[in-house]
Amino acid sequence: MLLFGPNGQVGWELRRALAPLGELIALDRLGRDGLRGDLTDSDAIANAIRTLQPDVIVNAAAYTAVDQAESEPELARLVNATAPGVMAELAREQNALLIHYSTDYVFDGSGDQPWHEDDPTSPLNVYGQTKWEGEEAIRAVDGNHLIFRTAWVYAARGHNFIRTIIRLACERDTLKVVNDQHGAPTGAEFIADVTAHAVRTAVTCPELRGIYHLTAAGETTWYEYARFVVEQVRAAGMPVRVAPEAIEAVDTDAFPTAARRPNNSRLEGYKLETTFGLKRPDWRSGVARALEEMAIPQKQGRAD
Ligand code: NDP
Repeated sequence: MLLFGPNGQVGWELRRALAPLGELIALDRLGRDGLRGDLTDSDAIANAIRTLQPDVIVNAAAYTAVDQAESEPELARLVNATAPGVMAELAREQNALLIHYSTDYVFDGSGDQPWHEDDPTSPLNVYGQTKWEGEEAIRAVDGNHLIFRTAWVYAARGHNFIRTIIRLACERDTLKVVNDQHGAPTGAEFIADVTAHAVRTAVTCPELRGIYHLTAAGETTWYEYARFVVEQVRAAGMPVRVAPEAIEAVDTDAFPTAARRPNNSRLEGYKLETTFGLKRPDWRSGVARALEEMAIPQKQGRAD
């Protein structure tokens, strides 16, 4: 197996989850042994795949700076669309399975129902547009592939909403958090474990190729999510200044950003569960577990 993007939230967890399935070679931008995993360099990606001839290619690398993408569309497109297209071509050439990740941002966020895999896409921002183009490039090649659309990813390691809220809750007495965007916080650990499970099935069942929605079960808003985080870390004895009641719910308009974001990021997980025989846990269980990992070492005064 060849893994691109091994140092991101999902990539890091994939190193653990994929390890029992076979030999795993992880290539980051800098690479190793003369092979590079820089997704802005299509020749380097093709060379790595042709040299290593993996049975499975897993692409956890992406241009994920949503606001910055508005001013760097060509770079975002190279990483999120061109490179996955090259991987798909090479995967078909090598008869390999390609695993790729996409996003709820391919949808426009309208309505209040969970999005199904075949609902019409209509990205609101450059990041979502380039991720959609990546999906289309892989689908056009039509080799053996799985594309997992996920949302609101967190991990004990990496930059994410949980870490930001804990930091702000320690620094401030009040917080304002957006309450009109809806989704399910999804752990990188869970994404990686589902991936490992699905890889085993998909390697021998190419008819399962396609797009799957992969999030935790249930739904929340960023505001409710922030309250949950603050309640949990306070209960664990972390010295946060903000009380849950001091968190104020605001609309998205309160925080102007370069990129527009969808209000409805709910993703329907039925297809994933029934195809691969899985059950998605409620988002709270994964977040509570990640908080244990993050908060308890701080409580005990250790460096994180
Ligand atoms: P991260 O931002 O944590 O990690 C992305 C990784 O991609 C980083 O390790 C980064 O490398 C790498 N990368 C960026 N540009 C390049 C490049 N030119 N060449 C090689 N590597 C590069 O992302 P996540 O783990 O959170 O996301 C995994 C997948 O899930 C992505 O496809 C993302 O689009 C999707 N997703 C994520 C969501 C989220 O909330 N985070 C929501 C929905 C979907 P480096 O460490 O060197 O910078």
